[in-house]
Amino acid sequence: MIDSTALTLQVRISEAILGIALIVHCAPSSDITFRMPERSAPRRAGDLSRQIERAVQATQIDDIHTHLYDPAFGDLLLWGIDDLLVYHYLVAEALRYLPLPFNRFWQLSKTQQADLIWEQLFLQHSPISESCRGILTTLNALGLDTRKRDLNSIRRWFAARKPARHVDEVLDLAGVNTVCMTNSPFDDLERPIWERGFRRHPRFKTALRIDPLLLDWPRSAQRLSEWGYQVSRTLNAKTLGEVRRFLEDWGTRINAGFLMVSLPPNFAFPARTAAAILIEKAVLPHCGDTGRPFALMPGVKRGVNPGLRLAGDGVGLSTLAPLEYLCATYPQHKFAVTALARENQHELCVLARKFRNLHLFGCWWFTNTPSLIGEITRMRTELLGLSFTPQHSDSRVLDQLIYKWRHSRTVIHQVLLEKYQDLEDTGWKVTEAELRRDVQALFGGEFARFCNFNPQSDVPNNPS
Ligand SMILES: [Zn+2]
Repeated sequence: MIDSTALTLQVRISEAILGIALIVHCAPSSDITFRMPERSAPRRAGDLSRQIERAVQATQIDDIHTHLYDPAFGDLLLWGIDDLLVYHYLVAEALRYLPLPFNRFWQLSKTQQADLIWEQLFLQHSPISESCRGILTTLNALGLDTRKRDLNSIRRWFAARKPARHVDEVLDLAGVNTVCMTNSPFDDLERPIWERGFRRHPRFKTALRIDPLLLDWPRSAQRLSEWGYQVSRTLNAKTLGEVRRFLEDWGTRINAGFLMVSLPPNFAFPARTAAAILIEKAVLPHCGDTGRPFALMPGVKRGVNPGLRLAGDGVGLSTLAPLEYLCATYPQHKFAVTALARENQHELCVLARKFRNLHLFGCWWFTNTPSLIGEITRMRTELLGLSFTPQHSDSRVLDQLIYKWRHSRTVIHQVLLEKYQDLEDTGWKVTEAELRRDVQALFGGEFARFCNFNPQSDVPNNPS
């Protein structure tokens, strides 16, 4: 409304508290009326927080990247206190304190390694790192008394668990619907189980991991040849056709949802390297034929300290020019990406704004800490709205699902509360059903839409 005689400044100060509006009339100096925004019955911050918390806690998560295995893989599925303690995150932390040559540590049994790690990281020092806190969150959620600090009684508790039942109980406790495995035909323990065949657990999905194929072609050529594929070390047309046949065979055998690879920071594309040629001439044609997304995880520096084995990998800032090239040159292909370096996150968000065939997911490995999950999730919501997947667990040990999701849920709740409070400050009101819809998108729904999306079509497909 325009008042031509007076400048009316209407200020409403906290209607919930005062229940009155103050109207200030100023001397006429303009024919424009400025009116402070009106807010209809603002919801109390506590109510909003509780509604978001309900949505975040109740929504079952589809965890799109883990290193867990279907229980049919037997001992490949890691679980229990000793596997939790010898997780490579804790090994790296404990060996900072332990006055022990690395090779002596690796000669010990798993139980002895776990004893040393428990002693150093939980008894000799307070367990405040994210990895250590995670174990305590997990034990506490499982009903174990962390105050007793009694490793052997914890071991006895796990020893009495039945693995098949433990799987479903942990998934339920973690609020996780399904987990996606990382499946590698190059793993000599995993491959025979696929070849033999088994009854699939309905909550374990699959992704085809192809790091050795792309990053160690001479060795992989030899292996493919042993498995009956007519390949030579030279990447000629016949060999590339056989690599495609290999991808088709394994994609079908395991019913892979997508292909994935972790890449060094200096990965180049296009390039005359074996990795680039294989991607261009075998992986992308396969993804084009099948509609499978290609997940890229740039930023890992393998073996920075080889003596630490799995705990010895580092991080490096990646050049994202190859990813920009891929998204622009292959608009009909879909790329799901998580970068390891914190410093790559902003450029990635901007790239995702330019290319709808790029889906960002997760806070990976060294970025899977509360402070960085908060920072990265905040940045992604501000630049991408809800069109990303804020987290995957990357769990290697079943029980880690509990803490990784509990900690991430807490941070995601905090970020969403800030964002929806900002919305309410404009007068916009988000219903509880809309909150649930949005959280479902973040916890797997948006990734499912991306996987079913045809980037070339004008109308996005709905996930089936
Ligand atoms: Zn991983």
